[in-house]
Amino acid sequence: MDYPVYLDYNATTPVDPQVLDTMLPYFTTHFGNAASRTHVYGLKAEDAVEAAREQVAELIGAMPKEIVFTSGATESINLAIKGFYEAAQHRGNHLITVVTEHKAVLDTCHHLEQLGAEVTYLLPDGDGLISRDQLEAAIKPTTILISVMLANNEIGVIQPIQELAALAQERGIAFHTDATQAIGKLPVNLRKLPVDLLSLSGHKLYGPKGVGALYIRKNIPLTAQQDGGRHERNRRSGTLNVPGIVGLGKAAALCDDLMTDEAQRLAGLRDQLETGILQQVPDTHVNGSRTQRLANTTNISFAGVDGEVLLMSLNRIAVSNGSACNSASTEPSYVLKALHLSDDLAYSSVRFSLGRFTTEADITPAIQHVTEVVARLRQEQ
Ligand SMILES: *Cc1c(COP(=O)(O)O)cnc(C)c1O
Repeated sequence: MDYPVYLDYNATTPVDPQVLDTMLPYFTTHFGNAASRTHVYGLKAEDAVEAAREQVAELIGAMPKEIVFTSGATESINLAIKGFYEAAQHRGNHLITVVTEHKAVLDTCHHLEQLGAEVTYLLPDGDGLISRDQLEAAIKPTTILISVMLANNEIGVIQPIQELAALAQERGIAFHTDATQAIGKLPVNLRKLPVDLLSLSGHKLYGPKGVGALYIRKNIPLTAQQDGGRHERNRRSGTLNVPGIVGLGKAAALCDDLMTDEAQRLAGLRDQLETGILQQVPDTHVNGSRTQRLANTTNISFAGVDGEVLLMSLNRIAVSNGSACNSASTEPSYVLKALHLSDDLAYSSVRFSLGRFTTEADITPAIQHVTEVVARLRQEQ
């Protein structure tokens, strides 16, 4: 059987072949421990890690010293929110986030509630967006941290982070953004964006799985959540994943070069896919803002079909109905529920996410396949 066309880049991306080539020597020839400063094996590894730190910093307009390598965005988010809370809780115990955040943020907040934090979960509007006024109304004298994602993984909606972070800055409140879906897709410049903590992941930007980074703005207090050899300026102990970090660095550098053209190309293909489906399949609609949105993502509801049967029947394309991270759950997407979709409609929604290796040749067959499958399922019901 032929492999289905991969349209699930928001779940994970393949490693770019150039990234893999850059990584390979660091498994074998240059296998040293980056903390071994007494010989050339260690020094070679350390140099490679520092070069990757510069590449990641460059992509987001940060200083290399402000980058901490982690095992991925989940760890970065845990470290940012728990580490900041622990360091700043003498100033207050109130956090603000949004109901449509990734579980890594929501479950971290739930954990802190068990430890005495008070958390406000903002409900976005029907487009999935949070406004400055809405955020402002939730701020209390005890608010110490606001966490709002840059781009949503399920619907691709982009929050007005510049405005929201500026408000936090005016009020002296720290601001974290889960930028996992945005970095490598959108330009982000932390010299202009007053965000204090930013999480990103390798495997969402054509790097390997199991590596990520946390940006920690200079002078932002943070308590390490893992004790040990005091690696990463004592923010994240543990022997560094040198090949992974080298891969993340190369992936960041490639995105820096390719991002602008890639976004333009993918917006064209995504629009072609979206328009084709909307025109050929009746009773469909796009979830979330269609203007404040990532170029590669569309999330479409197919009224009147069983969501589970739909996903199983779409066997020529690899797509999902929400977050891979919630695949254990059979609940309808909480992101779509927050946009006031019914359970049925949330179940029968499909996320299509395109990426670097999507071509025009993938799009027409995908539209045709979706059209045929939905028509057949509606007839059978
Ligand atoms: C994938 C993803 C994560 C988790 O990243 P990992 O590196 O897989 O831990 C967090 N937030 C968002 C928005 C994501 O898309």
